[in-house]
Amino acid sequence: MRTLEKKKTSTAARHAELRAGMEEDLRRLAFGRSWRGAGQVTMEAVQQLEPRARRRGLELLDALRRFDAGTYGICTGCGIRIPYVRLSAIPETTVCVECSGARELLFRA
Ligand SMILES: [Zn+2]
Repeated sequence: MRTLEKKKTSTAARHAELRAGMEEDLRRLAFGRSWRGAGQVTMEAVQQLEPRARRRGLELLDALRRFDAGTYGICTGCGIRIPYVRLSAIPETTVCVECSGARELLFRA
């Protein structure tokens, strides 16, 4: 039965939503306005984008690869599960807030 109200969903279901969103972003990035009918975005297609779009495209491809590897949402810095609130803001992130802060401090020093 469907209701307008959003039900509480499992982590897996929420991650699947993030994945669908990233796949859509990637197709938009690669195919522009004709993204709807477009198929899979390849690494070759991403490599041909202008630098800014290419960087984001590579991040999205990497995040989708991590989905397939089963490591999506796990911080590459400390290994914790990255909270959904952060993933929903930056779905392609590879690190938790603490690790991203630590890295930024390192860059500044
Ligand atoms: Zn971390």
